[in-house]
Amino acid sequence: MLRQILSGLKEHPGDVCYQIREKQYTNRELYRYVCNIRSYLDRHCGKGDRVVVTGHKEIYMIASFLACLFSGIAYIPVDISVPEERRKKIINGSAPAMIIDSSIEAVMDGEDSEDFSDIRISEDDTAYIIFTSGTTGEPKGVQITYGNLRSCMEWLTELCGISCDTVLNQASYSFDLSVADIYLPLLTRSRHYIIESGTQRDFPALFGELRRSGAGLAVMTPSFADYLMADRTFGRDLMPELKKILFCGEKLTEKTVARLYERFGGISIINCYGPTECTFAVTGAEVFPGEEISIGDPKPGVEIRIVGEDMKDVDGGMTGEILITGDSVGKGYLDGRGGFTDWGGVRAYLTGDLAYRKNGKIYYVGRKDRQIKLRGYRIEPAEIETVLDGHEAVERSAVAAAKDSDGKAEKIIAYVKLSQDRKQDVTVACLRRYAGRYLPGYMVPVVKIVREIPLDGNGKADIRALMHMDP
Ligand code: AMP
Repeated sequence: MLRQILSGLKEHPGDVCYQIREKQYTNRELYRYVCNIRSYLDRHCGKGDRVVVTGHKEIYMIASFLACLFSGIAYIPVDISVPEERRKKIINGSAPAMIIDSSIEAVMDGEDSEDFSDIRISEDDTAYIIFTSGTTGEPKGVQITYGNLRSCMEWLTELCGISCDTVLNQASYSFDLSVADIYLPLLTRSRHYIIESGTQRDFPALFGELRRSGAGLAVMTPSFADYLMADRTFGRDLMPELKKILFCGEKLTEKTVARLYERFGGISIINCYGPTECTFAVTGAEVFPGEEISIGDPKPGVEIRIVGEDMKDVDGGMTGEILITGDSVGKGYLDGRGGFTDWGGVRAYLTGDLAYRKNGKIYYVGRKDRQIKLRGYRIEPAEIETVLDGHEAVERSAVAAAKDSDGKAEKIIAYVKLSQDRKQDVTVACLRRYAGRYLPGYMVPVVKIVREIPLDGNGKADIRALMHMDP
């Protein structure tokens, strides 16, 4: 994969490969940046080190990711929106040899470094580490090897079947949805067209960018598509070249598929499924309106089993938990925590996702645990509870999602019981401000102060009772 990317950069120097705002970058420029950052890494780090790359969507992020991969250094993407306290946790938890930020631009634009052709990373080396929400209250770092990444991208390139096109790149690099955004264009001689997060919040600017992009492929979450469809102009007239949408990250509903078909006659919709722990996506297939939405077939090299509590395959058609084995299963968490398991002598990842098989296809049902998906973001309620419980005035908190009529999480609610002596001086706004110091914006909950947190028969917070409780 890296050999192919390198040849693409060197053999088509004049092609535009990255467009952000008005600025276009060619393969020649990107290759030069990669060479310069790589030689800088050579002077300051060694193979097997870790490097945090922080920023938003600037070209130095991609150039740094590639320079790290070519050097056998694991990169840890951290979007600029990650709050300081969480960034500290990520840095403490990963012990990087270096932190790359926008100051690397001086290195990129500096004196030209030598050409290179050696690729130092090998299949079992860690390619990247992505931090995701953790059940123990701390973000957890998932290590993905170069072999995992290579095999995933070879399959996705085949599944998407694009060449010399434009790919809409909008997911934050902190999330593994962006793995497809990053590598698909590099492998298919296509151009990244960047939609920055600020633009995403400003509809006129966003729609102007969508029109200008000429994108043939967009990678997004179903929630992002629903967000765009809230505006009637999101359709074929706005994006005449859009041929394909690749979905991943959360449940794709029949409603969303039907609406997209109405807006974009002749569009091809691919539904992929997978957790960060197994390299972005492990199943995928084209889906059509009027049919039950399946998460598709496993990629080659991956096996999906639907297992019961006893870890044995459930009987045909029954609902069980998705267990993943094969070459997409990552290297594990940085701190060696659970989730990864042994399945009959084979490394496996037990997902917590419930599904069933029908006529050979897999259908997603929901989660077995409390994990929430909000607009495609993965949230462990325990992480929010740990933060809130750390506030000196909070006695206990319980977090849950309020859902819409389709069962999709609409907002995150934290029920908070204050300690007796602090009831007067703590407000909802101050608790939200406090949470925002530690948690990214999408995890900051709506706060409801309650008199009591009732418990259910298992001694856990009774969310149903809380939802109906008067303040
Ligand atoms: P993340 O690691 O943030 O990508 O989240 C992974 C989780 O998102 C999975 O374990 C599923 O619960 C959910 N997910 C991802 N893709 C899909 C899909 N196509 N359909 C339903 N759920 C999905």
